[in-house]
Amino acid sequence: MGLSREALAGWLADDLGLSAADVEGTTRRIWTALYRHAHADISSIPGVRGEIRRRLAAAGRIDALSLDEIREAADGTKKLLFKTDEGAIVESVVIPGKERSTLCISSQIGCAMRCAFCLTGKMGLRGDLNTAEIIGQVIQARRTIDADPESRTPPLSNVVFMGMGEPLHNPDAVIPATRTLIDHEGLDLSARRVTVSTSGIVPAIDRLGQESPVQLAVSLNATTDEVRDWLMPINRKYPIAALLGAIRRYPLRQRARVLVEYVLLAGVNDGAGDVERLAALVRDLPVKINLIAFNPHPGSELSRPSPTHVLHFRDELRARGVAAGIRATRGDETMAACGQLGRPPGAEQAGARRVRSLPIASLR
Ligand code: SAH
Ligand code: SF4
Repeated sequence: MGLSREALAGWLADDLGLSAADVEGTTRRIWTALYRHAHADISSIPGVRGEIRRRLAAAGRIDALSLDEIREAADGTKKLLFKTDEGAIVESVVIPGKERSTLCISSQIGCAMRCAFCLTGKMGLRGDLNTAEIIGQVIQARRTIDADPESRTPPLSNVVFMGMGEPLHNPDAVIPATRTLIDHEGLDLSARRVTVSTSGIVPAIDRLGQESPVQLAVSLNATTDEVRDWLMPINRKYPIAALLGAIRRYPLRQRARVLVEYVLLAGVNDGAGDVERLAALVRDLPVKINLIAFNPHPGSELSRPSPTHVLHFRDELRARGVAAGIRATRGDETMAACGQLGRPPGAEQAGARRVRSLPIASLR
Protein backbone atom coordinates (compact mmCIF):
# COMPACT_ATOMS: atom_id res chain seq x y z
CA MET A 1 0.00 0.00 0.00
CA GLY A 2 1.13 3.52 -0.69
CA LEU A 3 3.06 2.94 -3.93
CA SER A 4 2.00 4.82 -7.02
CA ARG A 5 0.73 2.60 -9.83
CA GLU A 6 4.07 2.99 -11.65
CA ALA A 7 6.05 2.15 -8.52
CA LEU A 8 3.85 -0.89 -7.89
CA ALA A 9 4.48 -2.13 -11.42
CA GLY A 10 8.20 -1.49 -10.94
CA TRP A 11 8.21 -3.44 -7.66
CA LEU A 12 6.44 -6.40 -9.28
CA ALA A 13 8.94 -6.46 -12.14
CA ASP A 14 12.18 -5.71 -10.30
CA ASP A 15 11.69 -7.17 -6.83
CA LEU A 16 9.21 -9.99 -7.45
CA GLY A 17 10.61 -10.84 -10.88
CA LEU A 18 7.29 -10.88 -12.74
CA SER A 19 7.49 -11.10 -16.51
CA ALA A 20 6.51 -8.06 -18.57
CA ALA A 21 3.39 -9.98 -19.66
CA ASP A 22 2.22 -10.42 -16.08
CA VAL A 23 3.05 -6.99 -14.69
CA GLU A 24 0.21 -4.95 -16.17
CA GLY A 25 -2.67 -7.23 -15.19
CA THR A 26 -1.26 -7.98 -11.75
CA THR A 27 -0.76 -4.27 -11.04
CA ARG A 28 -4.38 -3.60 -11.96
CA ARG A 29 -5.69 -6.47 -9.81
CA ILE A 30 -3.67 -5.45 -6.79
CA TRP A 31 -4.65 -1.81 -7.19
CA THR A 32 -8.37 -2.60 -7.36
CA ALA A 33 -8.19 -5.11 -4.52
CA LEU A 34 -6.36 -2.69 -2.21
CA TYR A 35 -8.13 0.55 -2.91
CA ARG A 36 -11.53 -0.30 -4.38
CA HIS A 37 -12.31 -3.32 -2.23
CA ALA A 38 -10.16 -2.58 0.83
CA HIS A 39 -8.88 -6.17 0.56
CA ALA A 40 -6.74 -7.02 3.58
CA ASP A 41 -4.91 -10.26 2.70
CA ILE A 42 -1.95 -10.14 0.34
CA SER A 43 -2.01 -13.91 -0.21
CA SER A 44 -5.52 -13.90 -1.70
CA ILE A 45 -5.71 -11.02 -4.20
CA PRO A 46 -8.64 -11.98 -6.47
CA GLY A 47 -7.52 -13.08 -9.93
CA VAL A 48 -3.91 -13.66 -8.86
CA ARG A 49 -2.98 -17.33 -8.68
CA GLY A 50 -0.16 -19.82 -8.58
CA GLU A 51 3.41 -18.71 -8.49
CA ILE A 52 2.60 -14.96 -8.47
CA ARG A 53 0.31 -15.43 -5.49
CA ARG A 54 3.06 -17.31 -3.65
CA ARG A 55 5.61 -14.61 -4.36
CA LEU A 56 3.22 -11.91 -3.14
CA ALA A 57 2.46 -13.82 0.06
CA ALA A 58 6.17 -14.20 0.76
CA ALA A 59 6.81 -10.50 0.09
CA GLY A 60 4.94 -9.06 3.05
CA ARG A 61 1.56 -7.66 4.00
CA ILE A 62 -0.88 -4.97 2.91
CA ASP A 63 -1.54 -2.84 5.97
CA ALA A 64 1.18 -0.58 7.31
CA LEU A 65 -0.71 0.21 10.53
CA SER A 66 -2.39 -2.06 13.03
CA LEU A 67 -5.74 -0.92 14.39
CA ASP A 68 -5.49 -1.23 18.14
CA GLU A 69 -8.56 0.34 19.63
CA ILE A 70 -11.78 2.16 18.82
CA ARG A 71 -13.32 4.64 21.21
CA GLU A 72 -16.84 5.80 20.56
CA ALA A 73 -18.42 8.98 21.90
CA ALA A 74 -22.12 9.31 22.73
CA ASP A 75 -22.68 11.30 19.51
CA GLY A 76 -21.44 8.40 17.34
CA THR A 77 -18.00 9.90 16.66
CA LYS A 78 -15.35 7.18 16.72
CA LYS A 79 -11.69 7.67 17.42
CA LEU A 80 -9.51 4.99 15.82
CA LEU A 81 -6.17 4.36 17.47
CA PHE A 82 -3.54 2.76 15.23
CA LYS A 83 0.01 1.66 15.90
CA THR A 84 2.92 2.01 13.52
CA ASP A 85 5.59 -0.67 13.25
CA GLU A 86 7.72 1.48 15.55
CA GLY A 87 4.96 1.46 18.19
CA ALA A 88 3.85 5.09 17.76
CA ILE A 89 0.14 5.87 18.08
CA VAL A 90 -1.69 7.35 15.07
CA GLU A 91 -5.20 8.71 15.53
CA SER A 92 -8.10 9.15 13.11
CA VAL A 93 -11.68 10.21 13.81
CA VAL A 94 -14.84 9.00 12.03
CA ILE A 95 -17.53 11.68 12.14
CA PRO A 96 -20.88 10.29 10.95
CA GLY A 97 -23.23 12.68 9.14
CA LYS A 98 -26.80 12.10 7.98
CA GLU A 99 -25.95 10.48 4.67
CA ARG A 100 -22.19 10.35 4.61
CA SER A 101 -19.35 10.18 7.05
CA THR A 102 -16.19 12.23 7.28
CA LEU A 103 -12.86 10.80 8.30
CA CYS A 104 -10.33 13.09 9.93
CA ILE A 105 -6.82 11.67 9.41
CA SER A 106 -3.33 12.35 10.72
CA SER A 107 -0.28 13.12 8.60
CA GLN A 108 2.43 13.16 11.27
CA ILE A 109 3.05 11.91 14.79
CA GLY A 110 2.85 15.12 16.78
CA CYS A 111 3.54 18.41 15.04
CA ALA A 112 6.46 20.79 14.79
CA MET A 113 4.36 23.95 14.41
CA ARG A 114 3.66 24.43 18.11
CA CYS A 115 0.49 26.51 17.80
CA ALA A 116 -0.43 27.90 21.21
CA PHE A 117 -4.01 26.54 21.23
CA CYS A 118 -3.34 22.99 19.97
CA LEU A 119 -2.72 19.88 22.05
CA THR A 120 -0.89 18.12 19.19
CA GLY A 121 1.47 21.10 19.01
CA LYS A 122 2.45 20.48 22.62
CA MET A 123 3.90 17.08 21.66
CA GLY A 124 6.42 18.47 19.22
CA LEU A 125 7.19 16.43 16.09
CA ARG A 126 7.90 12.76 16.71
CA GLY A 127 7.88 11.65 13.08
CA ASP A 128 6.32 11.75 9.62
CA LEU A 129 3.78 9.20 8.44
CA ASN A 130 4.50 7.62 5.07
CA THR A 131 1.99 7.39 2.22
CA ALA A 132 0.95 3.85 3.18
CA GLU A 133 0.24 4.90 6.75
CA ILE A 134 -1.82 7.86 5.57
CA ILE A 135 -3.92 5.94 3.04
CA GLY A 136 -4.11 3.03 5.49
CA GLN A 137 -6.14 5.13 7.93
CA VAL A 138 -8.80 5.60 5.25
CA ILE A 139 -8.84 1.98 4.08
CA GLN A 140 -9.01 0.59 7.60
CA ALA A 141 -11.70 3.08 8.65
CA ARG A 142 -13.71 1.95 5.66
CA ARG A 143 -13.27 -1.67 6.65
CA THR A 144 -14.33 -0.85 10.20
CA ILE A 145 -17.50 0.87 9.02
CA ASP A 146 -18.34 -1.93 6.59
CA ALA A 147 -17.76 -4.60 9.23
CA ASP A 148 -20.02 -3.00 11.80
CA PRO A 149 -23.41 -2.45 10.14
CA GLU A 150 -25.05 -2.16 13.55
CA SER A 151 -23.36 1.15 14.15
CA ARG A 152 -25.30 2.54 11.14
CA THR A 153 -22.38 4.78 10.24
CA PRO A 154 -23.09 6.14 6.73
CA PRO A 155 -20.50 5.44 4.02
CA LEU A 156 -17.22 7.28 4.13
CA SER A 157 -17.09 9.96 1.46
CA ASN A 158 -15.14 12.85 2.95
CA VAL A 159 -11.54 12.84 4.14
CA VAL A 160 -10.01 15.80 5.94
CA PHE A 161 -6.33 16.14 6.88
CA MET A 162 -7.21 17.77 10.19
CA GLY A 163 -5.91 15.18 12.64
CA MET A 164 -2.42 15.13 14.08
CA GLY A 165 0.29 16.93 12.21
CA GLU A 166 0.85 19.60 9.60
CA PRO A 167 0.18 17.86 6.26
CA LEU A 168 2.19 20.37 4.25
CA HIS A 169 5.20 19.81 6.50
CA ASN A 170 5.13 16.27 5.04
CA PRO A 171 4.16 16.95 1.41
CA ASP A 172 6.18 14.11 -0.14
CA ALA A 173 3.91 11.59 1.60
CA VAL A 174 0.68 13.62 1.75
CA ILE A 175 0.39 14.78 -1.87
CA PRO A 176 0.73 11.25 -3.36
CA ALA A 177 -1.78 10.03 -0.75
CA THR A 178 -4.35 12.62 -1.89
CA ARG A 179 -3.88 11.47 -5.48
CA THR A 180 -4.48 7.84 -4.58
CA LEU A 181 -7.59 8.70 -2.51
CA ILE A 182 -9.25 10.25 -5.56
CA ASP A 183 -8.06 7.65 -8.11
CA HIS A 184 -11.07 6.49 -10.16
CA GLU A 185 -10.02 2.84 -10.10
CA GLY A 186 -9.45 2.94 -6.37
CA LEU A 187 -11.31 4.64 -3.53
CA ASP A 188 -12.61 7.15 -6.05
CA LEU A 189 -13.33 9.91 -3.52
CA SER A 190 -14.38 13.19 -5.05
CA ALA A 191 -11.51 15.72 -5.13
CA ARG A 192 -13.93 18.24 -3.61
CA ARG A 193 -14.38 15.95 -0.63
CA VAL A 194 -10.70 15.53 0.21
CA THR A 195 -9.44 18.53 2.18
CA VAL A 196 -5.87 19.32 3.18
CA SER A 197 -5.79 21.73 6.13
CA THR A 198 -2.62 23.73 6.68
CA SER A 199 -1.24 26.22 9.16
CA GLY A 200 0.15 28.06 6.14
CA ILE A 201 3.39 26.71 4.66
CA VAL A 202 3.23 28.92 1.59
CA PRO A 203 5.56 27.12 -0.89
CA ALA A 204 3.90 23.79 -0.10
CA ILE A 205 0.43 25.29 -0.69
CA ASP A 206 1.62 26.29 -4.16
CA ARG A 207 2.98 22.78 -4.71
CA LEU A 208 -0.28 21.15 -3.60
CA GLY A 209 -2.17 23.38 -6.03
CA GLN A 210 0.02 22.22 -8.88
CA GLU A 211 0.18 18.52 -8.05
CA SER A 212 -3.26 17.57 -6.75
CA PRO A 213 -6.79 18.84 -7.40
CA VAL A 214 -7.99 18.47 -3.81
CA GLN A 215 -9.61 21.06 -1.58
CA LEU A 216 -7.52 23.48 0.51
CA ALA A 217 -8.26 24.68 4.05
CA VAL A 218 -6.09 27.31 5.71
CA SER A 219 -5.96 27.90 9.47
CA LEU A 220 -5.87 31.68 9.78
CA ASN A 221 -6.90 32.09 13.43
CA ALA A 222 -5.86 35.76 13.78
CA THR A 223 -6.30 39.07 11.97
CA THR A 224 -3.00 40.78 12.82
CA ASP A 225 0.55 39.47 12.43
CA GLU A 226 1.20 40.40 16.03
CA VAL A 227 -1.45 38.01 17.37
CA ARG A 228 -0.79 35.35 14.73
CA ASP A 229 2.98 35.41 15.44
CA TRP A 230 2.12 34.50 19.00
CA LEU A 231 -0.62 31.92 18.29
CA MET A 232 1.06 30.28 15.29
CA PRO A 233 4.86 30.61 15.15
CA ILE A 234 4.86 29.66 11.43
CA ASN A 235 3.51 33.20 10.87
CA ARG A 236 6.97 34.60 11.53
CA LYS A 237 8.11 32.86 8.37
CA TYR A 238 4.94 33.22 6.26
CA PRO A 239 2.96 36.21 7.53
CA ILE A 240 -0.71 36.87 6.81
CA ALA A 241 -0.13 38.78 3.54
CA ALA A 242 1.99 35.92 2.13
CA LEU A 243 -0.66 33.39 3.16
CA LEU A 244 -3.46 35.36 1.50
CA GLY A 245 -1.29 35.51 -1.63
CA ALA A 246 -1.09 31.70 -1.67
CA ILE A 247 -4.89 31.47 -1.32
CA ARG A 248 -5.28 33.88 -4.21
CA ARG A 249 -2.97 31.78 -6.40
CA TYR A 250 -4.54 28.43 -5.50
CA PRO A 251 -6.11 26.98 -8.68
CA LEU A 252 -9.85 26.65 -8.20
CA ARG A 253 -11.20 24.60 -11.07
CA GLN A 254 -13.34 22.13 -9.18
CA ARG A 255 -12.83 23.59 -5.76
CA ALA A 256 -14.96 26.65 -5.81
CA ARG A 257 -13.66 28.04 -2.53
CA VAL A 258 -10.80 27.75 -0.08
CA LEU A 259 -11.90 27.09 3.48
CA VAL A 260 -10.48 29.54 6.02
CA GLU A 261 -10.50 28.07 9.53
CA TYR A 262 -10.68 30.47 12.44
CA VAL A 263 -10.48 29.12 16.00
CA LEU A 264 -12.26 31.59 18.29
CA LEU A 265 -10.35 32.29 21.51
CA ALA A 266 -12.06 34.47 24.10
CA GLY A 267 -10.44 37.88 24.44
CA VAL A 268 -7.66 36.99 21.97
CA ASN A 269 -9.10 37.06 18.44
CA ASP A 270 -12.87 37.45 18.86
CA GLY A 271 -13.34 41.22 19.23
CA ALA A 272 -15.20 43.77 17.10
CA GLY A 273 -11.88 44.85 15.55
CA ASP A 274 -11.24 41.23 14.50
CA VAL A 275 -14.57 41.09 12.64
CA GLU A 276 -13.66 44.25 10.72
CA ARG A 277 -10.14 43.12 9.92
CA LEU A 278 -11.16 39.57 8.98
CA ALA A 279 -13.84 40.85 6.61
CA ALA A 280 -11.28 43.20 5.04
CA LEU A 281 -8.60 40.51 4.72
CA VAL A 282 -10.82 38.07 2.80
CA ARG A 283 -12.68 40.64 0.72
CA ASP A 284 -12.47 39.59 -2.95
CA LEU A 285 -10.98 36.20 -2.05
CA PRO A 286 -12.89 33.03 -3.01
CA VAL A 287 -13.17 31.74 0.57
CA LYS A 288 -15.63 30.48 3.11
CA ILE A 289 -14.87 31.06 6.78
CA ASN A 290 -15.26 28.15 9.15
CA LEU A 291 -15.46 29.35 12.77
CA ILE A 292 -14.35 26.80 15.39
CA ALA A 293 -14.98 27.48 19.07
CA PHE A 294 -11.76 26.65 20.91
CA ASN A 295 -11.80 23.14 22.40
CA PRO A 296 -10.15 23.38 25.79
CA HIS A 297 -7.64 20.77 26.93
CA PRO A 298 -5.80 20.21 30.18
CA GLY A 299 -3.00 22.66 30.76
CA SER A 300 -4.25 25.29 28.33
CA GLU A 301 -4.81 28.83 29.59
CA LEU A 302 -6.95 29.85 26.64
CA SER A 303 -10.73 29.77 26.79
CA ARG A 304 -13.65 29.52 24.40
CA PRO A 305 -16.15 32.34 23.86
CA SER A 306 -19.81 31.73 24.77
CA PRO A 307 -22.05 30.13 22.11
CA THR A 308 -23.94 33.43 21.82
CA HIS A 309 -20.71 35.26 21.10
CA VAL A 310 -19.73 32.70 18.43
CA LEU A 311 -23.10 33.24 16.72
CA HIS A 312 -22.67 36.99 17.01
CA PHE A 313 -19.18 36.81 15.42
CA ARG A 314 -20.59 34.79 12.52
CA ASP A 315 -23.53 37.15 12.03
CA GLU A 316 -21.26 40.19 12.05
CA LEU A 317 -19.15 38.58 9.31
CA ARG A 318 -22.24 37.74 7.28
CA ALA A 319 -23.49 41.30 7.69
CA ARG A 320 -20.28 42.35 5.93
CA GLY A 321 -20.97 39.99 3.02
CA VAL A 322 -18.54 37.25 4.14
CA ALA A 323 -19.57 33.59 3.76
CA ALA A 324 -19.19 32.16 7.26
CA GLY A 325 -20.32 29.07 9.15
CA ILE A 326 -19.69 27.45 12.53
CA ARG A 327 -18.11 24.03 12.85
CA ALA A 328 -20.11 21.81 15.16
CA THR A 329 -18.01 20.33 17.91
CA ARG A 330 -18.08 16.56 17.81
CA GLY A 331 -16.39 13.85 19.76
CA ASP A 332 -15.50 15.81 22.89
CA GLU A 333 -16.08 12.88 25.15
CA THR A 334 -13.28 10.75 23.75
CA MET A 335 -10.98 13.70 23.12
CA ALA A 336 -11.51 13.39 19.40
CA ALA A 337 -12.41 17.01 18.65
CA CYS A 338 -10.20 19.48 16.70
CA GLY A 339 -6.94 20.17 18.47
CA GLN A 340 -7.48 17.36 20.93
CA LEU A 341 -5.54 14.61 19.24
CA GLY A 342 -2.39 13.42 20.87
CA ARG A 343 -1.24 14.01 24.38
CA PRO A 344 1.45 16.20 25.85
CA PRO A 345 4.44 14.36 27.31
CA GLY A 346 3.56 12.67 30.57
CA ALA A 347 -0.06 13.81 30.61
CA GLU A 348 -2.97 11.42 30.82
CA GLN A 349 -5.84 12.01 28.43
CA ALA A 350 -8.40 13.41 30.82
CA GLY A 351 -11.96 12.70 29.77
CA ALA A 352 -11.01 9.82 27.50
CA ARG A 353 -12.56 6.50 28.25
CA ARG A 354 -13.05 3.35 26.32
CA VAL A 355 -16.74 3.34 25.53
CA ARG A 356 -16.87 0.29 23.34
CA SER A 357 -14.35 -1.96 21.72
CA LEU A 358 -15.07 -3.73 18.49
CA PRO A 359 -13.57 -7.15 17.91
CA ILE A 360 -10.74 -5.74 15.88
CA ALA A 361 -9.18 -9.06 14.97
CA SER A 362 -12.33 -9.92 13.03
CA LEU A 363 -11.95 -6.82 10.89
CA ARG A 364 -8.58 -7.72 9.52
N1 SAH B 1 -2.07 21.22 11.05
C1 SAH B 1 -3.21 21.52 10.26
C2 SAH B 1 -4.31 20.49 10.39
C3 SAH B 1 -4.59 19.95 11.77
S1 SAH B 1 -5.32 21.05 12.92
C4 SAH B 1 -3.72 22.89 10.57
O1 SAH B 1 -3.30 23.48 11.55
O2 SAH B 1 -4.56 23.38 9.81
C5 SAH B 1 -7.00 21.16 12.29
C6 SAH B 1 -7.74 22.42 12.75
O3 SAH B 1 -7.96 22.37 14.15
C7 SAH B 1 -6.97 23.71 12.48
O4 SAH B 1 -7.80 24.63 11.82
C8 SAH B 1 -6.61 24.21 13.85
O5 SAH B 1 -6.56 25.61 13.85
C9 SAH B 1 -7.75 23.64 14.69
N2 SAH B 1 -7.44 23.50 16.12
C10 SAH B 1 -6.28 23.15 16.68
N3 SAH B 1 -6.39 23.13 18.03
C11 SAH B 1 -7.67 23.46 18.32
C12 SAH B 1 -8.42 23.57 19.52
N4 SAH B 1 -7.86 23.33 20.70
N5 SAH B 1 -9.72 23.91 19.44
C13 SAH B 1 -10.30 24.11 18.23
N6 SAH B 1 -9.66 23.99 17.06
C14 SAH B 1 -8.36 23.68 17.10
FE1 SF4 C 1 0.21 21.56 14.17
FE2 SF4 C 1 -2.16 22.27 13.14
FE3 SF4 C 1 -1.85 21.88 15.79
FE4 SF4 C 1 -0.74 24.00 14.65
S1 SF4 C 1 -2.94 23.57 14.79
S2 SF4 C 1 0.24 22.62 16.13
S3 SF4 C 1 -0.15 23.17 12.66
S4 SF4 C 1 -1.67 20.35 14.18
